[in-house]
Amino acid sequence: MAVLRPVDLKTQPAPYQSRYMVLQKVLKTLEKFHAASPELGKKAVEVEASVAKKSASSQSYRFNASVVLRDILKSKGKLDCLEPSSKKKGVIASAAKLTKSQAMETLQAVLVDQATLVANGYNTGAPEKTEQMSDTDVQGVYTTCIRCNTKFRKDQIMNPTTCRFHVQRKKFNRETRQGEYACCGETTNSSSFLALGCKTLFHHVFRPETFSEMERISPFRNTCKVQGKANVLALDCEMAFTSCGYELIRLTIVDFFTSKVLYDEIVRPFGEVIDLNSEFSGVHVIKEETSVSFDEMLEKILHESLINKNSILIGHGLENDLNVMRLIHDKIIDTAILYPRGHYKSSLKDLAFEVVSRRIQTGEHDSSEDAIATMSVLKSKLGIPLAQDVWE
Ligand SMILES: [Zn+2]
Ligand SMILES: [Zn+2]
Repeated sequence: MAVLRPVDLKTQPAPYQSRYMVLQKVLKTLEKFHAASPELGKKAVEVEASVAKKSASSQSYRFNASVVLRDILKSKGKLDCLEPSSKKKGVIASAAKLTKSQAMETLQAVLVDQATLVANGYNTGAPEKTEQMSDTDVQGVYTTCIRCNTKFRKDQIMNPTTCRFHVQRKKFNRETRQGEYACCGETTNSSSFLALGCKTLFHHVFRPETFSEMERISPFRNTCKVQGKANVLALDCEMAFTSCGYELIRLTIVDFFTSKVLYDEIVRPFGEVIDLNSEFSGVHVIKEETSVSFDEMLEKILHESLINKNSILIGHGLENDLNVMRLIHDKIIDTAILYPRGHYKSSLKDLAFEVVSRRIQTGEHDSSEDAIATMSVLKSKLGIPLAQDVWE
């Protein structure tokens, strides 16, 4: 039989090579249920073309391809049921039991590629673009408070000062045509003293912006040195502001297949605590006896049974988590990248409500709740049964 090729399209969502691979995969999957024939080949070309046509980027192409492959398997190769499911934007209503290897294959297909990782602020170990700045030495000394916008000296961060800010960002109200702060209801036009901010702390805060700045506190480690079998883990971190900037204070790791919490510890930061962000982080106090050091945490989690070079790590805006954990890892599934809202990254809160009708973050943040919500969104989008916790 002649070699099958993907049809030419005006705009190519993905490189020829990956379209070719998907086409072969579609055909192979169809051949599990039908005898090979020229008609079947034609059908495979059609199926691949329909995936390519509705995909705007290589990321969405890979996602849509994985959904179609899943559909073929589930329907046992019934071709007529392939098209209608595409109308539902990849959401599969029925969720029959899957085997672990089927689920793994589905997850492999939505791994974020390296270029997208870099574009989204992940450290891939590639050399950083160094900003061209004339005031190089000044840059290291001064920084801008991310809450009140005041410029201050980093080495004087623990000297008491006044930092007034709003806990939540302002939103534009179309009716009143002014900005409103959800935290306190103050508006940008208000002349009240409270308009400057509803919360006052005695220190400004900052986040290290570059990887080299982060490295000065603790070095990045590449997970490629950690041996182990492939596993799938959802991560969630809570962070605090300290004299060193923005640091990890709690880490939760949940197993994708069993939803079991595998690791959950309060982690002591390197710097002196300025703000634990308790209303978001749920961490109110860090005691020596109920917490672990950063290095103790790394020693536990960089292990064949937890994060190793073959692990698939799942998170929402996972670059924030991996950067505070100082990890370089290349098998990433990020629901903020996979399911954006227009030009913006979706919030996990909105996404969880939209996809699995689950209300989260109604009160304090809980990292295991977030990790589980992220997994539920992913499972639901990929047609992996939410409640399945026994896998063959
Ligand atoms: Zn406010
Ligand atoms: Zn400030």
